[in-house]
Amino acid sequence: MMTPHMTDRIEGIYLDAVRRNGGELEFHQAVREVLGCLGPVLVKHPEFGKHKIIERILEPERQIIFRVPWQDDKGEIHINRGFRVEFNSALGPYKGGLRFHPSVTLSIIKFLGFEQIFKNALTGLPIGGAKGGADFDPKGRSEAEMMRFCQSFMTELYRYLGEYTDVPAGDIGVGTREINFMFGQYKRITNRYESGVVTGKSLNIGGAPVRTESTGYGLVYFLERMLQVKKEALEGKVCILSGAGNVAIHAIEKLQQLGAKVIACSDSGGYLYDENGIDLEALKYVKLAQRARLQAYLRHRPEASFVAGGNIWSIPCQIALPCATENELNGKDAEILVQNGCIAVAEGANMPTTPEGAQVFLEAGVSFGPGKAANAGGVATSALEMQQNASRDSWSFEHTETRLQEIMVGIHDLCYETAEEFGKKGNYVAGANIAGFIKVARAMVELGLV
Ligand code: NDP
Repeated sequence: MMTPHMTDRIEGIYLDAVRRNGGELEFHQAVREVLGCLGPVLVKHPEFGKHKIIERILEPERQIIFRVPWQDDKGEIHINRGFRVEFNSALGPYKGGLRFHPSVTLSIIKFLGFEQIFKNALTGLPIGGAKGGADFDPKGRSEAEMMRFCQSFMTELYRYLGEYTDVPAGDIGVGTREINFMFGQYKRITNRYESGVVTGKSLNIGGAPVRTESTGYGLVYFLERMLQVKKEALEGKVCILSGAGNVAIHAIEKLQQLGAKVIACSDSGGYLYDENGIDLEALKYVKLAQRARLQAYLRHRPEASFVAGGNIWSIPCQIALPCATENELNGKDAEILVQNGCIAVAEGANMPTTPEGAQVFLEAGVSFGPGKAANAGGVATSALEMQQNASRDSWSFEHTETRLQEIMVGIHDLCYETAEEFGKKGNYVAGANIAGFIKVARAMVELGLV
């Protein structure tokens, strides 16, 4: 039971964080979700209160904001804003992706970095939490423009990185190509072939097999385990996913390999519905080879349909996987999914479900895997890439995928058992927040006041 004193204290810490980080709505939302689970933890671990761990964890260790000037193919000059928030290094070097999207602000990067602390702790691997990116829109940019932007971005960021300091990876708008360009620039400036300084590189230059697939594959392994607990199987289940990027495509691949039927996915323009099951080869060709819009899929499968501006969550399904962006599934969407018979939701994206949506799922008994647990496969495989780079080794696809699956099952079980221990059986949100927090908090106490 939470004592009123603890509730008051945590509420006070939250209000103080809101005041000190004015206008950062996404950051406030992420903080509120985590702090809302911590009352019982402070009762069980009064030392965390004494050491002011919550207050300290809310303050990033370092926040870097910088100018990114670059020239397009016509010679016109553009100025973007770059960010890196190095949030917490109690468990290891800062680790977290870079996002290139016009919606990027300090608030978005802080919410992602904050989530990353607990996600990385759940993997059990020695990595701290960070996030970065730029308010740059990669849509419609040529390869030469992407290279110039990545080089300019790294020309400033390199001074804060290092394999023992801060190790970025990809996120929205940043894939293998962009990571490779940034690594190339880092290598040139520093004169060091320091493979472990970024992850998500291509295989030729020290990348890990499965890194590209890992977030999507890991998400499905987490989902499979949630279903096992419910005594349900993935085979034959009808699934829908938002997004049509790295995470969504590889989640579809693993779902299909395990016998599920995926009938819809989406992008920011609308959703694609293919009643007979998405043709993965066609989808990969359109999105990965051609880098085209999702509608182009219809050229390969005329019997499918594309609903511009449509709400994907209105499609009846048994399993829903939001894999696009934050706050894309609200309370109303959740109610529709529940009415239509959805039994499980696992988040491939970061914080895609609003707090109201998550509440609807919890109350309806829908198994709900929050992103900080369910999409941790990406960062876990990044940590495996760091291990390979440090040992100058390279592992096979099968070996790496087996490790990924073990890690995802481990994360699931840790969240499940922690929720049960704290009297919240089946509540993966509470399980993930509490288990992740305790790991980091213990390390912070041990490290002293730093
Ligand atoms: P990609 O850039 O590969 O794909 C993103 C997809 O989401 C695209 O289909 C895009 O559509 C859609 N999308 C992006 N922003 C919006 C928006 N504002 N509204 C509607 N649709 C949008 O990114 P990823 O697949 O890598 O990332 C997807 C999510 O997964 C993000 O939340 C990311 O933080 C999270 N994640 C990613 C990891 C990784 O390893 N890549 C690891 C852990 C989490 P369009 O092309 O039309 O913009």
